[in-house]
Amino acid sequence: MRLYESGMLKDRIREAVSILKRCELCPRRCGVDRTSGEMGFCKSGMNPIVSSYNPHFGEERPLVGYGGSGTIFFTNCSMACVFCQNYPISQLGEGNPYTIDQLAEMISHFDIQE
Ligand code: SF4
Repeated sequence: MRLYESGMLKDRIREAVSILKRCELCPRRCGVDRTSGEMGFCKSGMNPIVSSYNPHFGEERPLVGYGGSGTIFFTNCSMACVFCQNYPISQLGEGNPYTIDQLAEMISHFDIQE
């Protein structure tokens, strides 16, 4: 909200979209244009694919607090660890596509306490 109120949020959005045009968001540095439908190693386009989201109580106490850690399980992790405990989500892409507005809605439902 502070970014939005300061007017800087639009600049951040523009910057993020420009990175997606030649994606170097992770060390794979595929260089694909995700804004035009190209996909790199992570098989992800413009919109997120999410497997589940919820207040998560399974982490360490300092992370969980009183309302949960607010977990969003994104699919298609670019690290591709062979021992991943969430393989169907991280490598097989089990999840559903969401719009950016829907993702914002998910995040805003978590009770963030500063
Ligand atoms: S794996 Fe995905 S996030 Fe990483 S650089 Fe390639 S397209 Fe971008």
